[in-house]
Amino acid sequence: MTATTNQPRSRVEELERIYRAHLTACPRQHFGILTDCAKGLRLRRALHATRATADKGAP
Ligand SMILES: [Zn+2]
Repeated sequence: MTATTNQPRSRVEELERIYRAHLTACPRQHFGILTDCAKGLRLRRALHATRATADKGAP
């Protein structure tokens, strides 16, 4: 993990990278909420939550 940041948008981009890398590397299935992968689900939830925060903070 990189250093903590107060920039939600940077967090979103970072989480997106992590999530996409996971989708590429993970042998499990990822069909939205029907995902068969607990880690993938956690990453997706974190990504969406962070994205919602970033959107809320948008001017
Ligand atoms: Zn996975």
